[in-house]
Amino acid sequence: MLDFLPPMTLKEKNYWLETVASPIAATNSPLPEFADVVVVGAGYCGLAAARALAKRGLRAVVLEAESIGWGASSRNGGMVLTGLKLPVPTLIGRYGRELVRQMYAASLQSIDLVEKIVQEESIACDFSRCGHIEVACKQSHFDAYAASAAKIKKEFGHELRIVQKRELGAEIGSEIYFGAMVDETSASLNPARYVDGLAKAAQRAGAHLFDRARVTAITPLFTNGSRLFRVQSTRGTIEAKEIILASGAYTNAATPSLRKKIIPIGSYIIATEQLPETLSRELSPRNRMIYDSKHFLYYYRLTPDNRMLFGGRAAFFPETENTVRQSAEILRRGMLSVYPQLLDTKVEFVWGGTLDFTLDVMPHGGKIDGMYFAAGFAGHGVAAATWFGAKLAGLICGEPNDIPFDGIKFPAAPFGLRSGNSWALPLAGAWYRILDFFT
Ligand SMILES: Cc1cc2nc3c(=O)[nH]c(=O)nc-3n(C[C@H](O)[C@H](O)[C@H](O)COP(=O)(O)OP(=O)(O)OC[C@H]3O[C@@H](n4cnc5c(N)ncnc54)[C@H](O)[C@@H]3O)c2cc1C
Repeated sequence: MLDFLPPMTLKEKNYWLETVASPIAATNSPLPEFADVVVVGAGYCGLAAARALAKRGLRAVVLEAESIGWGASSRNGGMVLTGLKLPVPTLIGRYGRELVRQMYAASLQSIDLVEKIVQEESIACDFSRCGHIEVACKQSHFDAYAASAAKIKKEFGHELRIVQKRELGAEIGSEIYFGAMVDETSASLNPARYVDGLAKAAQRAGAHLFDRARVTAITPLFTNGSRLFRVQSTRGTIEAKEIILASGAYTNAATPSLRKKIIPIGSYIIATEQLPETLSRELSPRNRMIYDSKHFLYYYRLTPDNRMLFGGRAAFFPETENTVRQSAEILRRGMLSVYPQLLDTKVEFVWGGTLDFTLDVMPHGGKIDGMYFAAGFAGHGVAAATWFGAKLAGLICGEPNDIPFDGIKFPAAPFGLRSGNSWALPLAGAWYRILDFFT
């Protein structure tokens, strides 16, 4: 049946951006000569940091290569998720029980922080504690859920609920899964409205946001016994006492030490036309954030205006017009394999973005070459990038360092997978497919 799908007529556009009524206007004025802190990148991480710094009275300048919020922060699935990507036993084996408890607690606090910011700043981004479900693609995946939930309860006191296949209808209108695991703590939001609201909040607090200001070089300067940084950008040069690198998967040659640790991975999303209420309730009766148990996974949800938004790592290439178009077809077939009910539903939007993975699949934050940085949020960045941004601002303001991810080993990516060497990314895709076949 799926071999004869009619061609799609759709917009190669990010659906979320269409929902932002009056996007933030960055400043037209020239760059100041000096700032307390220059933040590189205007996504959740950079903007959460700038907001927190400005609220404490520091002169924070954000330099963004494209438009404000242009990166992954306006393009993602809007899933505000608990937990870390790796299984708990792997984490405990690597980092020890105590540190992993702090990491898990941080993942829960990060959702609370997003909720707090949304409330404090009155950001109209449809934040909702709707919970998420992971659906099992294989019986063996489902069989592992009970032990995983018990471990998470024992180690972190966090409750997950197992859903047997016969009860799945209450959670999802799809027949293809073997069961699921529900986490009620996770949330959803409209990512583009959230990043726009965060930017406006940072600006209101006194931060200066510059778009079309690509940082091309950062040089440490030592004058009269104190250290400064000189930042060159396409909008001019500025000096700062401290730097925060919040450039995510788009980190470039201006910061080579960070760049070589990041593996950029393309991910793509389609959104359908608006669905009738009865159909959308059938597909997702509790309006959860949903992702499946594969490495090469699908993630999907309803939008607040009842579209099915369906994403996946459809191809391991950075987004270009071609990869975006090919991904639409691949994702549509994926969506129909989950929800055959959508056969006659139009796909109206497709877009792509780039995620920042690290070799150890962990987020990292701290200092590199004397500059603050945070990266490696993978598919958890809505909450994690916000949290890291606020934490880095706290460190600059003299708060104690309680970031459990700081100081853990941060391996460089193998040469072919590094940011800037994306020709090798199909290999990463092949690797995930092999893992899915064998696990
Ligand atoms: C398709 C997709 C779906 C996703 N789904 C989810 C999800 O559902 N839930 C979730 O939690 N996470 C998800 N993620 C991940 C999440 O979006 C990211 O982890 C998060 O947005 C990262 O925020 P950030 O601020 O670190 O980086 P970004 O938002 O990527 O911002 C970095 C910015 O830095 C700028 N920049 C880079 N280099 C320079 C330079 N030299 N000078 C100036 N500016 C520079 C870039 O232009 C960019 O705008 C998804 C990501 C993608 C791509």
